[in-house]
Amino acid sequence: QTLMVESDTFRYPIHIGSNLLQSNQVWDGLVKQLSPSSFFIITDTNVAKRYLDRLQSQLEQYAQTDYMVVEAGEASKSFVTYERLLTYALKQGFDRSTVIIALGGGVVGDLAGFTAATYLRGVPYIQIPTTLLAHDSSVGGKTGINHSEGKNMIGAFYQPAAVIYDVTTLKTLPEHEWRSGMAEVIKHGFIQNTKLLQSVKRTVSTPIGDINAESIENILYTSIDVKRQIVERDEKEKGERAFLNFGHTVGHAIEAELGYGEITHGEAVMIGMMVALKVSEHYYEVDLASNSWCEDMKSLGFSVRIPASCDSRSLIERMKRDKKSLQSDIRMVLLPSLGVPNLVKVDSTFIENILKEELE
Ligand code: NAD
Ligand code: ZN
Repeated sequence: QTLMVESDTFRYPIHIGSNLLQSNQVWDGLVKQLSPSSFFIITDTNVAKRYLDRLQSQLEQYAQTDYMVVEAGEASKSFVTYERLLTYALKQGFDRSTVIIALGGGVVGDLAGFTAATYLRGVPYIQIPTTLLAHDSSVGGKTGINHSEGKNMIGAFYQPAAVIYDVTTLKTLPEHEWRSGMAEVIKHGFIQNTKLLQSVKRTVSTPIGDINAESIENILYTSIDVKRQIVERDEKEKGERAFLNFGHTVGHAIEAELGYGEITHGEAVMIGMMVALKVSEHYYEVDLASNSWCEDMKSLGFSVRIPASCDSRSLIERMKRDKKSLQSDIRMVLLPSLGVPNLVKVDSTFIENILKEELE
């Protein structure tokens, strides 16, 4: 399946399917379009040992193919790694027709994308996401690295020439990474497509190895399409794109409170979404079946309670400081009904009372 992402200034395909790393059909088309002088694959240690050979031998049919393997993990989204990549590229003499390939999860995608955006003022790049979470970065054009003052603080909006989602690679994802990515899929369901929630429930209760490729392709397609529609309507994040922060106000606060790495991003967002459902119920005085959603998410292996080591007061302080909030009030995305997001300012005591109930 192929989905086109388009705006006034760019247009690129997202191919979703099995064994696409070695698909002559997909690569022939891209090579014809880009006429690369060479390829530069950027990947991480975990992904390299599984998929680098396969991709490299495919690409060598078309042009010289170099690669650099960075350490797996968030710490690679750093100035040091970024500079190492640039130095390598310059020493190899890569020119403006070199195509950078990001083979990996969101870390590699952000890092390689930013390298592509800035090397010689921009060379084309192709994203090959190998995690479920990275479906989130396949649309929106955000690339970047971290600074000691904050995550994703240095970066650029830069669009790939294509995204190739080979779902075969997802089979080797560790289970908690799988869940982390699923949380963002579930988010897209909550904010726009409640049918997606039903397909997720069916799929996540199946062990990863047994999930058939077709259902995961369909879930990815639908989830990416939700993000595509929102981003296309609001490319520079002025309004609607904020809906993508559903679950993230509380989620970011939990991540920061526990220390990054203690909990995956998606796991924190899942807790945040369950809190946001409860806040929505109180705020709009509606019944969204939040308790039954919590039970469903628990049965999918998610934790839905705020970890006991978090303090409601300091979570609130962190939420006030969240870069997506105004100074004193807490701005968060609530749901007047399922599939209908709304960005509202909520009184912080109101939220704090709900947080207290939600603490383990
Ligand atoms: P990640 O890239 O660190 O991947 C998670 C782990 O899985 C790593 O250890 C990786 O080596 C391993 N891995 C990757 N693919 C594998 C595979 N097929 N089999 C086995 N192991 C595999 O993390 P992630 O969760 O993919 O992405 C998180 C990053 O994405 C964060 O830095 C976040 O800021 C960024 N992000 C960016 C955007 C965007 O719009 N640009 C959106 C969401 C997240
Ligand atoms: Zn997220």
